[in-house]
Amino acid sequence: MSYQYDLFVIGAGSGGVRASRVAASKGYKVAVAESSALGGTCVNIGCVPKKLFVYGAEFSHIAKDAKGYGWSFSQPSFDWKTLRDNKTKEIERLNGIYGNLLRSPGVEIIEGHGKLIDAHTVEVAGNTYTAERILIAVGATPFVPNFPGNEHVVVSDNMFYLDELPSKALVVGGGYIAVEFAGILKGLGVDVSLAYRGDQLLRGFDSDVRAFASQEYVKSGVDVRLNTDVASIADQDGSKLVTFKDGKTENFGLVLYATGRVPNTANLGLAEIGVKMSGKGAIEINNNYQSNVESVYAIGDVTDNIQLTPVAIKEAMALLDYWFEGKDVQFDYDNIPTAVFSQPQIGTVGLSEDEADSKGLDIRVYQTDFKAMKNTLSGSESRSFMKLIVNNENDEVIGAHMVGDYAGEIIQGLGIAIKAGATKEHFDSTIGVHPTSAEEFVTFS
Ligand code: NDP
Repeated sequence: MSYQYDLFVIGAGSGGVRASRVAASKGYKVAVAESSALGGTCVNIGCVPKKLFVYGAEFSHIAKDAKGYGWSFSQPSFDWKTLRDNKTKEIERLNGIYGNLLRSPGVEIIEGHGKLIDAHTVEVAGNTYTAERILIAVGATPFVPNFPGNEHVVVSDNMFYLDELPSKALVVGGGYIAVEFAGILKGLGVDVSLAYRGDQLLRGFDSDVRAFASQEYVKSGVDVRLNTDVASIADQDGSKLVTFKDGKTENFGLVLYATGRVPNTANLGLAEIGVKMSGKGAIEINNNYQSNVESVYAIGDVTDNIQLTPVAIKEAMALLDYWFEGKDVQFDYDNIPTAVFSQPQIGTVGLSEDEADSKGLDIRVYQTDFKAMKNTLSGSESRSFMKLIVNNENDEVIGAHMVGDYAGEIIQGLGIAIKAGATKEHFDSTIGVHPTSAEEFVTFS
C-alpha cells in the first residue's frame, strides 16, 4: 500500500513541530496540519508569552528594590497595552521562525483542523491525505468546572489578549498556572486574590516549598485564600459577582480559572476509528507512543504523560528513533527538573520529602532559608528557601528544591547532577560560586 506521506502530524505545537521537521530533514515525506498559529500552546498562549509577562511583572519589584541602592524614580507607571502588543509582535516573529523551521526541510504545512477518517487517512478542510503513520500532537486545553455562571470566567488563553487589565482579580486554582498568573497580575499592579480549594497551594511539590512559596505570596500582597471554592458567578455590567461556597460574596473585575488542562481530543475522529482513550480523554499509548490503532501515535499533552514542553520535544525525538532507527523508546520520566515562574520562582527536581518517605527510603534532609544578599540593601522582606534530600543508603542526592530568585536557572544545573547520580559528597566537594544564592546548595552541613 502506498501513501502520500510517510508521516502526517496533527498539531504544530512543540512536539508536533519537532517530530515533523526532524523526520523531514531525514528525507521522509511529512505534512503537518494546524488549525491555529504555528508553535502551539507554548509559543502562543503558554510558556513563552507567560515568561514575557513574568519579566514585565518583575520590573515593579525592581523599581522598589533599587531605592536602597541609591536610585530614585518618579512614580513608575505601567501600560498594559504596550506589554501585550510587544509580546504579540514577538510571538508573531516566533510564528515566522516556526514556519521556516518546518518549510526548509520540506514539511508541507496544511492549515485547518485535522480529523482522522481511518487508520491512514486524515481530513483537513475538506481534503483527504493518506500517511503510513499519523502522529497526534494536539496538546491540551484549559478545563473549567461546571457551576452556575462559569461562562463569566476567563482561562489562561484569554490572559494574553485582554483589552484592559482589571484593577481587582480573582484567580482560582492552586497549580502552576494559577500561581504564575497571580504573581504576574500582582506585579502588574492588580489587586489579586488566589482561591484554592485545598489546604496548601501546589499539590505535588515538596510540603516545605508549598508552605514557603505561599508565605512569600502573602508577604508580597497576594490575598491567598486556602480551602476556598466558588459556588457561582453573576455578571453585573461587566463586574463579576462571585459567591463563594461559604456564602460570602465579592465583586472582581476578572475571574481567571486555572483548574487544570484536558487533552484536546474532541472532533479528531479518534473514537470513530477505535482509538482508545482514558476517562479524561487522553489517548492511551504504549511505551513507544503507539495507540491501539497501529498506525496512530500520540505525544505531549494529549496523552496522560507529564504536561511540559521539553517532555513533548524529547518524546518526539524518542519516537523518531523508534520509527526510523528501530530503537525501542527508553524515556526516563524520573528527575525531570521544572520551575514555577512565580515571584519568587520555584525550582524543583527529584523527590519531595513526602515522596521519599512514602517510598520507604531512609533519608536525611538539609534545608535553609535566608535573605538573599540583594535584599539586604533593597529592604525587601522576600526570603529564599533551599532543600536537599539525600538517600542514606548510597549518599545520592534524590531531591533538590528551591524558592527564590533564579530558581529555574539554578535547578537546571542541579537536574544534571541528580540525573548523573551525584552524591552529597559530590555536592560537598564542589566549590561554591561566591557570592551567590546557589552556593548554599554546596555548603549544607
Ligand atoms: P495543575 O494541574 O497544575 O493545577 C490545577 C489546579 O486546579 C490544582 O490546584 C487543582 O486542585 C485545581 N482544580 C482542579 N479542578 C478543580 C475544580 N473543579 N475546582 C477547583 N479547583 C480545581 O494545572 P494548571 O492548569 O495549573 O497547569 C496545567 C499543566 O501545565 C501543569 O500541570 C504543568 O504541567 C503545565 N504547566 C507548566 C508550567 C511550567 O513549567 N512553568 C507553567 C504552566 C503550566 P487540586 O490540587 O486540589 O487537584
